[in-house]
Amino acid sequence: MFKFYPKFRSFIGLSLFLTSFSVFAGGEYVDGEIIVKLKSDQVIKGSTKAFSGMANKLGLSLKGSWKSMNLHHYKATSGSDVEALVKEIESDPAVEFAEPNYKFNKASLTSFSNEASLSEMQEAFASSGSRFTQTSAHVDAEDAWSEMSSSGIDTVVAVIDTGLDMDHPSFTKLCAIWNNEAEINGTPGIDDDRNGYVDDFHGWNFVANTNSPEDDDGHGTHVSGIVLGSSIDILNLPKDSSKECVGDYQAKIKIMPLKFLDGNGSGATSNAIQAIYYAVNNGARILNNSWGGGSYSRALHEAVAYSYSRKALFVAAAGNAGSDNDSTPMFPSSYDVPNVISVAATSSSDYKASFSNYGAFSVHLGSPGVAIYSTIPGSYYGTMSGTSMAAPFVAGLAAMISREQPSMYGYQIKDIINSESDSISNLSNYTVTGKRLNFNDAMVSAKAASVWSEQPSYDISLSLYDREVASALASSGAGCGLVKQLYRGNGGGPGAGGGGGLSRFFMLFAIMIPAGLWLAMRRKKEEPGFRREHERYKVDSKVKLNINGREVEGSMASISMGGAGVNVEQLLDMGSVVTLKIQSPDGSGEIEVDGHIVWSDGEQSHGIRFASTADRVKSLLGRWIEVVSGA
Ligand code: CA
Repeated sequence: MFKFYPKFRSFIGLSLFLTSFSVFAGGEYVDGEIIVKLKSDQVIKGSTKAFSGMANKLGLSLKGSWKSMNLHHYKATSGSDVEALVKEIESDPAVEFAEPNYKFNKASLTSFSNEASLSEMQEAFASSGSRFTQTSAHVDAEDAWSEMSSSGIDTVVAVIDTGLDMDHPSFTKLCAIWNNEAEINGTPGIDDDRNGYVDDFHGWNFVANTNSPEDDDGHGTHVSGIVLGSSIDILNLPKDSSKECVGDYQAKIKIMPLKFLDGNGSGATSNAIQAIYYAVNNGARILNNSWGGGSYSRALHEAVAYSYSRKALFVAAAGNAGSDNDSTPMFPSSYDVPNVISVAATSSSDYKASFSNYGAFSVHLGSPGVAIYSTIPGSYYGTMSGTSMAAPFVAGLAAMISREQPSMYGYQIKDIINSESDSISNLSNYTVTGKRLNFNDAMVSAKAASVWSEQPSYDISLSLYDREVASALASSGAGCGLVKQLYRGNGGGPGAGGGGGLSRFFMLFAIMIPAGLWLAMRRKKEEPGFRREHERYKVDSKVKLNINGREVEGSMASISMGGAGVNVEQLLDMGSVVTLKIQSPDGSGEIEVDGHIVWSDGEQSHGIRFASTADRVKSLLGRWIEVVSGA
């Protein structure tokens, strides 16, 4: 998972992240629609009441709300200037942010090729002597099938896309479509499971707001067939109906079709959020997202963070512009939420597909995405290309792992898939891991793994992509005043928590690494007129960084309430959650802190941000540090 990068790589590119987030980012959005988040204290006062004066004044009507996120979807009167409205809405003190209802698009490059019927496909594969494996790349998918237990709770994979051909034999004869038993066994016309959707037997159509997620594009059916085909031969179907859905003809994962992209493959943020919510709240553990766009949506970001809080894995296509997501992010794949796994497309010869987006800091791994065979509507099969086709292999593998390890966090599944993939030289500069997925290695490793009982905290207000944080970082230089959790391990050391668990405290504090920052700090200090905002201390300590289980050692030269210079030679995976162990100079004590790797525009460097009160840090480090310069 962790990879050593050459120093200073992509500094300039990464800084573009922070400057390119104008509110509207030039993105397409739905005419007359706005998403508004109210401040948390307004929730306590009761729903949207605090904002109702402004809403009335501007002629906004409420279309829907996601109460647990305090997000509200408004429609303006026709002909309204959305961008002007957003600015005016944001001037209301009750409002945390407002944004247009951005549009996103499917991430396939091609339409269908090589269309064939089931019998034509079977004949073709029989004459070539090979079983249907969807890709000729050595991903060892079939080897992994024997690793699947004969019984188990089938993992539900939400395919958030254009829908699904619900009558396609590869799904019906293998019983691969998710069933909402409460509705199927309930009363027609009644929302039996009270999830807000009437008769949602197998998913939902968020475009038409009906219970029929039929596919009027074909993309979602193709993507779903790849997810399913990762775990079972989708061409091996029984001729005798009595054999359907038993034994070899029984799917071990279930597809929950959630249609939010329309017949042109385009969809609104508001519907994507609904689909993510629906998926997570109705039992999907894996969310496949073969779509995206260049507009940063804070509301969508919150929905992805919600999926993380609910242990799900969020698989996202990296995009097909052939560009670098480190400098030109693609959402949702570029969100730095720890459960997002961003997938590039590779060819059958294990090269990055020319069209595939990449990102040494933001795209995790490669997966086959060129001329992939799968299901297409009307009981047909055919090929498509795109990162849309690469992501569902990862989703399929993740579902197989989740079935073996039902209590495993999506975050840990991501870690296993990243770790247990095959290193491919062509991918080394294109992805975080430099790897292409390997089904069998990941399955074997996942079955033997002990399940983590916790996952790192994620605070959206600390995200690299948060506009306010980005500007705060840029202006403060070190991100002071930001809050991040600090974990304490068991045992000795100052401030140790009792008992076996982790005790948490907070500090207003940031540690910046690596060498690049240290140099930047020194340079600033030498400039005449430069005045440090924070007290600065000298400390000679060893520092260990634990990034998803891998340890890197360095030494810490100085620390302040605004930041710390740490001499570490390696750059780190953007968005990673890391554990920093700071040793006392005599080696007798150690504090352990969780952090989050970010980019500081002000410092032109990566850093680790974590948080507690400054007093807490001082008391923790008090015996180790020596003041070298005052504020
Ligand atoms: Ca329902």
